[in-house]
Amino acid sequence: RVSYVNGRYLPHVQAAIHVDDRGHHFADSVYEVLPVVKGRLCHLDQHLDRLERSLGALAISWPVPRRVFPLILNQVISRNRLTDGLVYIQASRGAAPRNHAFPLDTPSSLVVSAWPHSGPATALIEQGVRVVSQPDLRWKRPDIKATGLLPNVLARQSAREAGAFEAWLINDRGFVTEGSATNIFIVAPDGALLTHPADNSILAGVTRTNVLKLARNLGLEVGERPFTLAEALRAREAFITGTTMMVMPVVKVDESVIGDGLPGPITRRLRELYLDLRRP
Ligand code: PLP
Repeated sequence: RVSYVNGRYLPHVQAAIHVDDRGHHFADSVYEVLPVVKGRLCHLDQHLDRLERSLGALAISWPVPRRVFPLILNQVISRNRLTDGLVYIQASRGAAPRNHAFPLDTPSSLVVSAWPHSGPATALIEQGVRVVSQPDLRWKRPDIKATGLLPNVLARQSAREAGAFEAWLINDRGFVTEGSATNIFIVAPDGALLTHPADNSILAGVTRTNVLKLARNLGLEVGERPFTLAEALRAREAFITGTTMMVMPVVKVDESVIGDGLPGPITRRLRELYLDLRRP
């Protein structure tokens, strides 16, 4: 494996970042995870748009100009002979003696790595998964794709310990915001497709955006509005979206079965359409 660190392509085992990197000290860094299908990057502009927004929100400068990113990402893909997998980008405010305030004249740092990945097992997709609800303990800006993911890590770990696939985060107002690393959709009893609006309280997933577009093209009634856990439990269908699992049916939330306990027709249709969208 080969990874990129601040201008150099290195054997993955030697690809290290400085101990004073602010990503390490303060999680003062942002990231992106992009799908690679048959050696080609998917949704590149959407991911770079979101990276630009995250960097801007935190006043971190581009570690290299935006137009150089495709070159670096494609180098990492070809040097790893990657066909189907994921590319990881992390940009931090750079390495500087530990001090909360921003350093002056310190270049931001950039790491790019890649690994093979072929999505969740077919059996899981066909059966659907169970999720568990957890309090949303995150800061008030989860719309910024920053690396400070401790609440997400703890939520996913409790899901795993409960034998569930994902944690659904419930905010202080009782609304279902998103999963620990996924966005959440439900099909309400009246057939409308609902998902939390892309405000400051969730990450606007690239998969979420693309699935919404596909749903609108299908002529489905789509509502970007918050819903409660009680509403979700009455849903006909539910699914989660994200770069690594694409569209994953959810058939059980805590101890409640969703719909008839099988992946629903709208979920299955949107999954197929999304898979087509990714094919080169
Ligand atoms: N929500 C959170 C908190 C995430 O971390 C992620 C992805 O990692 C998503 C949603 C899904 O985003 P995307 O579809 O861009 O992968």
